[in-house]
Amino acid sequence: MYTGEKYLWWNDAEKKLADEVADFADNVIRRDIDEIERTKKFPWNWFEAMGAKGWFGVFIPEEYGGMGRGIGKTTGFCIILEEIARGAPVAVDFYETTLYGYSPLVRFGTEQQKRRWLPRLATGDLFAAIVITEPFMGSDAANIQATARLQGDEYFINGKKRFITLGGIANLYVTYCRTSDDPEDRKNYRHLSAFVVEKGTPGFSVEAIHDPMGRFGSRHAVLDFDNVRVPRENMILNEGDGWKVLTDALNIERLGVAAGAVGTSRAAIAATADYVTRRVAFNQTLAEIPGVQTMCGDMVTRTELIGLLVFYSAHKMDLGMDVPLGCTIAKVFATQSLMQTVLDSVQCHGGDGYMRNYPVERLMRDSKLIEIGAGANELMQHLVWRLWLKDYLTLRSASRKPVTPRSIAAPEANRQILNTLADFYCLHPALYMEREELMERLGLTAEDLDRYLLAMEKDRDIALYRKRGSIALAKATYEGLKKAKPLEYYKFFPEFVDKEREVF
Ligand SMILES: Cc1cc2nc3c(=O)[nH]c(=O)nc-3n(C[C@H](O)[C@H](O)[C@H](O)COP(=O)(O)OP(=O)(O)OC[C@H]3O[C@@H](n4cnc5c(N)ncnc54)[C@H](O)[C@@H]3O)c2cc1C
Repeated sequence: MYTGEKYLWWNDAEKKLADEVADFADNVIRRDIDEIERTKKFPWNWFEAMGAKGWFGVFIPEEYGGMGRGIGKTTGFCIILEEIARGAPVAVDFYETTLYGYSPLVRFGTEQQKRRWLPRLATGDLFAAIVITEPFMGSDAANIQATARLQGDEYFINGKKRFITLGGIANLYVTYCRTSDDPEDRKNYRHLSAFVVEKGTPGFSVEAIHDPMGRFGSRHAVLDFDNVRVPRENMILNEGDGWKVLTDALNIERLGVAAGAVGTSRAAIAATADYVTRRVAFNQTLAEIPGVQTMCGDMVTRTELIGLLVFYSAHKMDLGMDVPLGCTIAKVFATQSLMQTVLDSVQCHGGDGYMRNYPVERLMRDSKLIEIGAGANELMQHLVWRLWLKDYLTLRSASRKPVTPRSIAAPEANRQILNTLADFYCLHPALYMEREELMERLGLTAEDLDRYLLAMEKDRDIALYRKRGSIALAKATYEGLKKAKPLEYYKFFPEFVDKEREVF
């Protein structure tokens, strides 16, 4: 039963898909999950069933066998993830990994690469993995150590990767390697390249399989690349484009994680509702106790809000818009919120919540991963702020009046700059003034202003703050303020001050 909202902007095909996946979650994933939890066996039958339904082809154009059906690619992707995650979070691992794995082929693949691999990926005949993380680096993804060196028409890959979901199971491994040690390339993020490494290539092996805290049935592997020869035609885009390929799919990955979190939250809320409406304590059901109601109400509030953000962002992406801020907020908020929801859900179950016979224990273990994977939340929180600030500063600069530059000779220019900074000090004694604000006020070109500012800094009349080597902010020093105006100019006393007695 689909328990989420079918948003007003969804078309009939999208609404139908929600019911179809809900049916699969209820009747296949939920049917199998206890057995998988017990045996930790890989659920091949889910793969086969999802492949037959065409769901793996949601991102693939119809000419290469994609799902089509008039379903928005991102909306369809999020609907599928939300519902299979409601079935069991582990189902998300298989599905999203193969989609993120192959998405660079859809975006950047050559015609030959697309014809060769996409039709079989669409049906679930082939699976893809994303191969970035190493024992030597994780969050710091640009610091990849595995190398790929060109000899003749082939690249030779050497290195180790770890935590690779579908490692051992997948057929295609989209692997990111270092192809340049030139510091200039590193500085410009041109040091990495992306390759499709096929299972069975000599020298490419599974070194170990991890034993995780949750999401049993999933597979995460350490992979070893020992002089693995990969033909040049397996490279995605060109040498040096690896960072571009890697970062391109990040927004969709973050949104997908958030969609899964919404589904798992719905599963936790439903399990909690089933419990608290049937457990009686203090002569009432738990559902009637205000403290329990508060916890449950908060679970619902968070989940509904995130669902809205996820599907609104998905809709915008289907309309061709780039939504980095929405996707990043969704990732952080959805995963934090899910963690709180599953903890509260266990709490509402009391001692039963700690036992394995109720699903919330599994949901709690299974949920932790996504606060770490797809970009640890701490990094995402920084990113939310950086993305928001960038948009705000762009808007603020766009609202500045156009300047007709004028030329002012040195002593007069210095005087005007210092006076402007002195006036700014009167209003904002703690703050620096932006270089662009000074340009606007004085009508100076950037070149002239910087020249004057550097000279004034040398004379210690002003202090400068630089960003990536360029002047960004300026502030009058004590000496500069003294030079600009007499002390009287800066004096300010509110009316309530008795100047005779309080001021000297
Ligand atoms: C089950 C599982 C499946 C995975 N699947 C894949 C996969 O398929 N392919 C793949 O390539 N990788 C995969 N990963 C790897 C995953 O992407 C990394 O674990 C993740 O990027 C964090 O890297 P790390 O584990 O090396 O942690 P580290 O980078 O060592 O970071 C550890 C912690 O330090 C903090 N931290 C780090 N940097 C910062 C910072 N700049 N600011 C603030 N705090 C910071 C964060 O709290 C972070 O969680 C998987 C991991 C797991 C656990």
